[in-house]
Amino acid sequence: MDIIEPQKLDKIDCHVHFVGGGTAKSGSWFKLRTPWDKFQARLMLKGCGIAPNALYDDLDTIYINKLLQLIRDSSLDRVVLLAQDIAHDDNGNPLPEKSKYFVPNDIVIEFAKSHKEIIPAISIHPARSDALEELEKCIEHGARIMKILPNVININCNDKRHSKFWSRMADAKMILLSHTGGEMTLPVLNKSYADPRTLELPLELGVTCIAAHSAGGSYPGDKDYTDDLLKMFKQYDNLYGDNSALCSLNRNKTIGKILDPEIQNRIIHGSDYPVPVSGLGVWVKGYLPWKDWRKWKTCDNILETDYQFKKAIGFHEETFTRLSQLLN
Ligand SMILES: [Zn+2]
Repeated sequence: MDIIEPQKLDKIDCHVHFVGGGTAKSGSWFKLRTPWDKFQARLMLKGCGIAPNALYDDLDTIYINKLLQLIRDSSLDRVVLLAQDIAHDDNGNPLPEKSKYFVPNDIVIEFAKSHKEIIPAISIHPARSDALEELEKCIEHGARIMKILPNVININCNDKRHSKFWSRMADAKMILLSHTGGEMTLPVLNKSYADPRTLELPLELGVTCIAAHSAGGSYPGDKDYTDDLLKMFKQYDNLYGDNSALCSLNRNKTIGKILDPEIQNRIIHGSDYPVPVSGLGVWVKGYLPWKDWRKWKTCDNILETDYQFKKAIGFHEETFTRLSQLLN
């Protein structure tokens, strides 16, 4: 089966992670090194409605089946499911010891071919010696989105050696979803790549880019780049931001900066599933009405909770359908 292109008004969550333990031969893996890692993993699974002992079971199958059920029971039509490449040095040598988790491109493409609810986002470190070859293979399979975390897997997007890679993405009308702002869950290799200006070269070469988390800080005292992103919106028509994880406790201060109607024209809905959706911080800050917080905080579908919170906060209908427009 081929990947089904989204309809023009599909409501899409642009930022959903796959997590697998390598069961079902998916090839994905993660490392839980410390008690804190294990605590976080169990908490996230529980928040998604998955029993924490799934960590020691066929997690790949349990995780995808739960996700499909949540999408079908939600107001969303589809989600973008993210692959995750490992860290590489600037010359393209893999650094598996500095990587915490891996999701191969094949598995998100496979899921998308068998489930219309899934849109795959591949992940390729552009310094890899086989980067262009892998990109070509994924394009052939119908991939339209790529996800990267420059600060976590060490990508200097502005390195001129990657020009050919970005140009090929632009030719194929692919979208680059890139983590911007700080990061708390994964180890950071190069802090300066949290800056959205790291996307200047792909933007100039014509790649449509989405700055994940709208470049906000991730913990108290973390450098915040949202104002820089808003300035870049004026300079680049092909630049967007997502509102993923902004209902979590640590990222809620970004919301107030992206609610202006003109800025919302550049915002795309995303949850950052399986990151917990609390709503507490946005309620305390006065962005989320009490009645909506009360009504949805106990909903057992966190994709729906995040969707309802974003609507109640005042994100326009277009923020949910903008990605399907961009993909058409
Ligand atoms: Zn994420």
